[in-house]
Amino acid sequence: MLSNKSVRLENVVVHIDLKGTPLKLSYLESLFPLMKKHGVNSLLMEYEDMFPYEGKLVNMSAEYCYSKVELKNFLRAAQKSGFEIIPLIQTFGHLENALKLAEFQHLREVPSYPDSICPSNIESLVFLRDLIKQIIDFHKEVAPLKFLHIGCDEVFHINQCQLCKERSEIITNRDLLVQHVRAIYEVVNSLSAKTAVLIWDDMLRDIKAYEWLNIESFNNIHVVYWDYGSPLRVTHQNLYRYHKKFEHIWIASAYKGADGRTATITDVSKRFRNHFDWMHYIIGYRFGGEDVYNFKGIILTGWSRYSHMDPPCELLPVSIPSLVLNLLVIQNFKSGISYSKINHERDIIQNMFRKHINIELNESFKCLIDYDHLDFSVCKFEGHELYNLMKQYIMINSEVAFKFISEEYAFASVEYYSNMNTINMNNVIEMKVQLVTMLDEIINIENRLATEIVKYYHHNFVREYIDYKSYPNKKRIMQLLNIINNYMEVRTWRKRTVSNSENVTIQPN
Ligand SMILES: [Zn+2]
Repeated sequence: MLSNKSVRLENVVVHIDLKGTPLKLSYLESLFPLMKKHGVNSLLMEYEDMFPYEGKLVNMSAEYCYSKVELKNFLRAAQKSGFEIIPLIQTFGHLENALKLAEFQHLREVPSYPDSICPSNIESLVFLRDLIKQIIDFHKEVAPLKFLHIGCDEVFHINQCQLCKERSEIITNRDLLVQHVRAIYEVVNSLSAKTAVLIWDDMLRDIKAYEWLNIESFNNIHVVYWDYGSPLRVTHQNLYRYHKKFEHIWIASAYKGADGRTATITDVSKRFRNHFDWMHYIIGYRFGGEDVYNFKGIILTGWSRYSHMDPPCELLPVSIPSLVLNLLVIQNFKSGISYSKINHERDIIQNMFRKHINIELNESFKCLIDYDHLDFSVCKFEGHELYNLMKQYIMINSEVAFKFISEEYAFASVEYYSNMNTINMNNVIEMKVQLVTMLDEIINIENRLATEIVKYYHHNFVREYIDYKSYPNKKRIMQLLNIINNYMEVRTWRKRTVSNSENVTIQPN
């Protein structure tokens, strides 16, 4: 017996995370047709330090943030292409962008951590109102906002400062969170009455059942249940609580930026499994005896940094295959999936690739993909040259790192024995040749990478990305070359000495 089921997701949203990663807006705009074709109807714009703030907030913008004119033109183009714009503003945790600055330092919940704001400080709300107003006003000039995402995830420091502790009532973390969310909602509501507010759900997950009894419903606030893993760790209890207390539930997956804070290439298999699992989970979802529940939308998150202070992870142009593949998964589930009495996931997946995904990929990227080897090297998408270069870059960097620890190359011995004053001069010459070759290889691929990345990103970011990726290997090579160069003068050697001389042995603290 086969039954046909489908998911109804009104909003399919792609998250554009710009924090410290200034994508060229013309490139983003060039992706509109591809996104449209694969069912995207909204963009979650996380500008962070790329937004041109003004007044007291002016230092929250990076030196190379977008200009007002270019950003407005971009938003107009997005609107013309039929995309709903949902700005994402952090209003509780992940506020490093502001709290790192001297002028907002006093708003931190814990002085040494610039991530969480103190909700009890009256000045915090003044600052947040200014922030929200600037974003709302800017967008209003293009189109009124239907939704605004106010973040509220990963508030690592909550209820710890003196002001919070001194509040007249005995206030729990839960109360503080609920009150703050309501306060921010009121701010949004006073500035733009028809805008619904979205929040990430993770800070709500540990609220106990009895505590939920005392929480009133959040009118006009939608909750976004995020899970980027496979298997999902989503619980029915939490979904049920959200269903009872919030206007709508959205879900969030990840098409990039969830597999390591320094990842270079997206792990497409993991991203595929994450999206498949979500769709499989919500298809035909019911709360008890109620009708099938329609989740309001899905946000495909694409993190560029784990936080403001973290290094960049995967770049957007190399993650396009993951984005498109996962949009195809969603489209498949929206158009209907045949379920037999015994569901074999593998059969569903293979069917999906055979009947739909590969036909679409072939049309968009001129390639066929085997589900067991999700390798997009042969696919033709804008960015495929960068994708292949990145793969080479990873290989070269790994080879160099391996040579440093390899017994065959013996680089690890150079530093120690140069201090001990006994290196075989014949080996030293050979090592120098190898080190120079390794350095040339890295510089060569760096130059090729820079030429590609600058097509998509501001040149300041290109420098940062490449410097940071090669830093450990280049530093090691340069250090060894310095040692070897110093060692190459004509010299005499002293007699062999005991090994624990002060300048050699590393003393534990
Ligand atoms: Zn506080």
